[in-house]
Amino acid sequence: MRSVGISGCVVNATRESDWEVVREIAGKFPEFVHPAYGVHPWFADTVEVDWEERLRKLLSEDARASVGEIGIDGWVDSPRMDVQREVFNKQVAIAVELDRVMTVHCLKAWDELFKLIDETDAWPKKFLMHSFGGSIEIAERLLQYGAWFSFSGYFLQTQKRKTLEVFNRLPIERILLETDAPEMAPPQELMNFLLDGEYNHPANLGEIAVAFETEMGVGILEEVVENSKLFWGL
Ligand SMILES: [Zn+2]
Repeated sequence: MRSVGISGCVVNATRESDWEVVREIAGKFPEFVHPAYGVHPWFADTVEVDWEERLRKLLSEDARASVGEIGIDGWVDSPRMDVQREVFNKQVAIAVELDRVMTVHCLKAWDELFKLIDETDAWPKKFLMHSFGGSIEIAERLLQYGAWFSFSGYFLQTQKRKTLEVFNRLPIERILLETDAPEMAPPQELMNFLLDGEYNHPANLGEIAVAFETEMGVGILEEVVENSKLFWGL
């Protein structure tokens, strides 16, 4: 990642069993890797007794740590939505309690998300909608609740250009960039680096950034870098 000019990143855990690995990487590269601890909706049914206490402790021990990746997903049948909802709500409450930003995954569950936001007692002042693939109408509603949006290289695929159009209409000061590695591979020609010989590698962000600037206009990258510092409090 350094070799392509990247100076730092956020690494999200997806389930309790990888919190320790994320903590280790963040400890090994304290200037570069900023940890995010959380339970992804796909793994909402894997939490162990007292998981919230352990999450609170990990976050409290590292001022740079954020909450992620958390959210809700209506694209998968399992875990059930009520299970996802409960685990998500608890993590939102922890983010508010410890005053941390959070990275939110939402797929085919927009109504559910807005319902959750409306029903919750407290919602963080700012949060990141990662790999945002929703419409401009959804984005505009989310903006009012403090959303920032990260663009994933996957949306540079020709059949996904709708998302690029949405980003073109978003306020520039709310845009960040991501790879979502090892998932969500960008177009083949931007895959200069492979993880385990086949998966999307975080260093592909360099090429993704260049392609994003070509689409969005010169100067956007400087903005995105500034936005990232602001969002993550760096
Ligand atoms: Zn996600």
